[in-house]
Amino acid sequence: MKSSNHYTPPALAKNMEENMEENMAKNMEKSMEENMLRKIPGVDTLLQEIKGDQRFTHLPVSVVKNAVRTELGNARKLIVKGGEPDLSQDTLISLALGRAQKMIAPRLIPAVNATGVVLHTNLGRAPLAAAALERIQTIASGFSNLEFNMEKGKRGERYSAVESLLCELTGAEAGLAVNNNAGAVLLALDTLARSREVIVSRGELVEIGGAFRIPDVMEKSGCILKEVGTTNRTHLRDYENAITPDTALLLKVHTSNYTIEGFTASVPLSKLTELGEMAGIAVMEDLGSGSIMDLSQYGLGKEPTARQAVASGADVVTFSGDKLLGGPQAGLIVGKSEAIQRIKANPLTRALRIDKLTLAALEATLALYRSDADALGQIPTLKMLTCPFKETAAKTEDMISRLVNELEPLETFADVAWADLSSRTGGGSYPELPIASRCMTILPKEISVARLEKALRLSTPAIIARIENGRLIIDPRTLQDGEDTVVVDTLVKILKKGEKEWT
Ligand SMILES: *Cc1c(COP(=O)(O)O)cnc(C)c1O
Repeated sequence: MKSSNHYTPPALAKNMEENMEENMAKNMEKSMEENMLRKIPGVDTLLQEIKGDQRFTHLPVSVVKNAVRTELGNARKLIVKGGEPDLSQDTLISLALGRAQKMIAPRLIPAVNATGVVLHTNLGRAPLAAAALERIQTIASGFSNLEFNMEKGKRGERYSAVESLLCELTGAEAGLAVNNNAGAVLLALDTLARSREVIVSRGELVEIGGAFRIPDVMEKSGCILKEVGTTNRTHLRDYENAITPDTALLLKVHTSNYTIEGFTASVPLSKLTELGEMAGIAVMEDLGSGSIMDLSQYGLGKEPTARQAVASGADVVTFSGDKLLGGPQAGLIVGKSEAIQRIKANPLTRALRIDKLTLAALEATLALYRSDADALGQIPTLKMLTCPFKETAAKTEDMISRLVNELEPLETFADVAWADLSSRTGGGSYPELPIASRCMTILPKEISVARLEKALRLSTPAIIARIENGRLIIDPRTLQDGEDTVVVDTLVKILKKGEKEWT
């Protein structure tokens, strides 16, 4: 028995031993970590190494430095966490190269729209006609008469480039274009009804996605919203009874992204303008999608055209440049001279003004509407909407036979078929209207449908498809010229890879 008073019970001694071992291990780890950290090459060493490297010559020096620093920092972080990254110069340099290339790649990139939704807000709505692109190039590459009256040699109006065209195409007395239709509505309300009452049917208090809600816009423009009628039925007398000395405007909103069916009633614009005239109150219609051409003869329901709205006697009609019109993002305001002059004079117009690129594209797009054949043949949105079913069928069948040739035998890679499904207009126009389209449907064998959808989305160019009933759908209606080949080639690449290479 020990006589010392420093008696240590055996259990505790064992514990201390373990602690010592643990500490030693920790110290060793620490010194290994320090060793590894010391092995990380310096930024300058790597930069020196990169100097003669052909792969880096097109990259800006600042970007390369940044990429090298970031990769070395990542290696350091990994070591501190206990990892053992490959610290060879070759590896670090190729990591830096990858990062630098990613850093300079544009963030706004093209996409192939295989969804069948023609006006896809998330994918940039309307692709522009070649004529519009050409005008952008011509006008934006130099100076122009944007706000200069060449004849008088004096300052001119920015809108004059499109005003006469707008009048010609809609029958309006005057018009202007602003940044977008949301801006057009805001501007018109602010001009015609600030601090006063605006009467709107309850069935038309729409939300258009992206948090554009008519009641909210009205609040922002300082108007007082007076809802009349019920969700499904509003009568002329509802408007009549709501008029007070404080009423500034009767507003009609085209419910372009939904329909109310069954027991419904709404007041046609022409009745509202009669009432407006009698009561001395302005009338406005927000058309939203705003078609210039009547597309009903192509099987596309009856959307009111801008010309019809103007002919009904509205003081102001607003619509979008990049919905059914198929032009650039813009808000078009047409109507009676008096109202349009007041709108032009509103200081808010300056804040919402259209830029020259847009104006150039808008003028060219509107000009195409002088001939139905030009509009239908050259404006991509109209081409997609009116593309006959048999053309979609031919494109789909062609894509399938190319897949059969490229993937042999096709059955081992995927179950590919065609199905008669529906494209949609999107962008808040022709609500619910299905457009018959023969689509390609794919059930991949080695990867999941979700994986295939993602792989397409992350490829270059990005291909956006939809999934329906557990199968991937490629709708040819929204593919632009040559994109069917891109889709086939990309599908071949992805399907050939198989599951092993995805994990
Ligand atoms: C789409 C839409 C708007 C907004 O138009 P933007 O061009 O997207 O700003 C406004 N009102 C209606 C009824 C719409 O459908």
